[in-house]
Amino acid sequence: MQFYVDGFRGGNPDIKNAAPGRRDRQENAPLPEKVDVLIAGTGPAGLCLAAQLSQFPEIDTMIVEPSPCNIIKGKADGINTRTMEMFQAFGFADKVKRETYWVNQTTFWMPDPENPSGIKRVGRVQDVADDSSEMPHILINQARMHQLFLEYMENSPSRLAPDYNWGVKTLEIDPDADEYPVTVTLEDTGVNWGETRTVRANYVVGCDGARSNVRKAIGGELHGDAAHQAWGVMDILANTDFPDVRQKCLITSANEGNVLILPREGGYLFRMYVELDKLNEDERVAQRNFSQEHMIAAANRIMAPYTIDVKEVVWWSIYEIGHRIADKFDDIGDGDRTSQTPRVFTAGDACHTHSPKAGQGMNVSMQDTFNLGWKLAHVLTGRADASLLHSYAGERLLEAKRLVETDHQWARIMSAPATQDELDGKVEPRFIRQFQENLEFTGGLAVKYDESSLTAEPVHQALATGEEVGRRFHSAPVVRLSDAKQMQLGHVAEADGRWRIYAFAGEGDSSDAGSAIHKLADWLESDPKSPVVKHTRKDEDIDAVIDLRAVFQQTFDQLAYEDMPSLLKPTKGKLGLTDYEKVFCADHKGAGDFYDMRGIDRAKGCMIVVRPDQYIANILPLDAYDELAEFFAGFLLPA
Ligand code: FAD
Repeated sequence: MQFYVDGFRGGNPDIKNAAPGRRDRQENAPLPEKVDVLIAGTGPAGLCLAAQLSQFPEIDTMIVEPSPCNIIKGKADGINTRTMEMFQAFGFADKVKRETYWVNQTTFWMPDPENPSGIKRVGRVQDVADDSSEMPHILINQARMHQLFLEYMENSPSRLAPDYNWGVKTLEIDPDADEYPVTVTLEDTGVNWGETRTVRANYVVGCDGARSNVRKAIGGELHGDAAHQAWGVMDILANTDFPDVRQKCLITSANEGNVLILPREGGYLFRMYVELDKLNEDERVAQRNFSQEHMIAAANRIMAPYTIDVKEVVWWSIYEIGHRIADKFDDIGDGDRTSQTPRVFTAGDACHTHSPKAGQGMNVSMQDTFNLGWKLAHVLTGRADASLLHSYAGERLLEAKRLVETDHQWARIMSAPATQDELDGKVEPRFIRQFQENLEFTGGLAVKYDESSLTAEPVHQALATGEEVGRRFHSAPVVRLSDAKQMQLGHVAEADGRWRIYAFAGEGDSSDAGSAIHKLADWLESDPKSPVVKHTRKDEDIDAVIDLRAVFQQTFDQLAYEDMPSLLKPTKGKLGLTDYEKVFCADHKGAGDFYDMRGIDRAKGCMIVVRPDQYIANILPLDAYDELAEFFAGFLLPA
């Protein structure tokens, strides 16, 4: 963690210096008349976006929420490894790791062939494959996760906070207006219930859940199916003689349905998803009047001969599985993308819904807005043309389709009765196989963006076979040269909207003058064609847009810090202080060698260009200057 770059300031380093000219947030202060970005909804999607934008105090961001405050309990609880990698960029992954339940194993239970009215453990699967991510898969109360984003916003230079008790009623877009073209009607849901106000915005993002008013206002519709299957979910404090209660468990009974157990943070709490009745075609779950007593009774039947003695029901809800996706994720839809750029977007449940059992809802919602946040920041700070915003729908709609398809398949397999061969133990049950096959997907690690101006054709993929263009940058251990600290290379990336170039030195390159790394750094720092020179403003730190980091194959004692080129030890901030944290060595202390782990070409080395949302945009030879310049010129404007 780096701080003090602009001078010493005591206290909590997570609290950034407040930017001047912020909105007056005192009680009874009026709502703003105009904002750059208006976000509807403080669920995971809205908060992730607000947190990202809060780092840009020059962008006026407003986030509205009809509820009076943050939720306290309930809703989703699964955070996959990919989202944890994103939390690292927001700086709270360590806090989350400390507080939460880690899903290490998943166990599977089926009817006991010797006693079919009872159940028996039939398999265990390691939940996170070795080296699939440096992060665990964790379970946490959604409300706590919201709180972490809210704290991050509060500590940001913008001191951003939600406007509670306001919901988006509707909006209109003026196609002829260049500035603030979206007029949003907000409705008071607090003491002056029903009163309305208008706010004009440059961009609106509907993170307002499955019944999204923003989606409706842009003519979007959710398509898909309801599975007519009721599921109950309850977070409980209970005693049980079931032995695997502190492991994630999928339990299938012979005739009583299924239960999914998710142990939770704090050591005592656990969640149960309980399969309830099939619904009729035209029946809604609310019509059945299911209660928590129904759920507890069903769980006891499914898990017999084991019993659950519930001491406290912390939260419960009844669900009907629906897998649905909106036909458009922005106001352009299939319209004319060449002459118009989007002004209104939807994200998260507002544009795709799925069953809670694959644990994707909250994760994918945040990944949607992590994708959109830096793009909005680039456009609003003049770094990129507004046409960049087309890529949000382009990338996320396809991902949502893949998610809904996989989730659909998973829900079907979960609900299908076991075959006789599976029951007799002759073949591995289908749901164990499917679970294992899905692990990369459920970890959020299977996302791969197609070729576009942001994702280059993988011409030089052979230079880094374990870091695929279009997929997230897969971190691995390194040792920092300046202080010999063992760390993960990917952890240098913060949610700050910057691009990163990781330059891996070829064999024997120790950054002496004339070496490939030295030449690359010098070219990047001073050549008029260099993207660093072209896209960084005169008054900005040299790494404000593109942050170069170098990794060498030698151990840290074989390299000399003084031999490093000036771009790898730049002076920054108000005081012109040297940044010592740009140079790394492969880890020789046992944690693993980056080159071996990620298939980096040892002889030639390479550059890996990584987007602000941690996805690999390009892989290039160390001397591919023109290709690098051309790549960035494809979407960044000259400074
Ligand atoms: P949401 O979390 O739904 O957030 C939307 C936000 O928008 C809410 O705060 C809402 O109050 C606000 N809003 C609504 N209307 C407006 C408006 N007009 N203007 C402004 N704001 C508005 N997932 C699981 O994996 N497991 C679960 O057990 C589970 N349980 C759930 C129970 C409930 C009752 C609900 C609603 C969802 C549940 N989910 C569960 C789904 C999971 O919570 C979502 O997938 C995830 O929260 C999606 O995040 P989001 O930010 O897109 O939407």
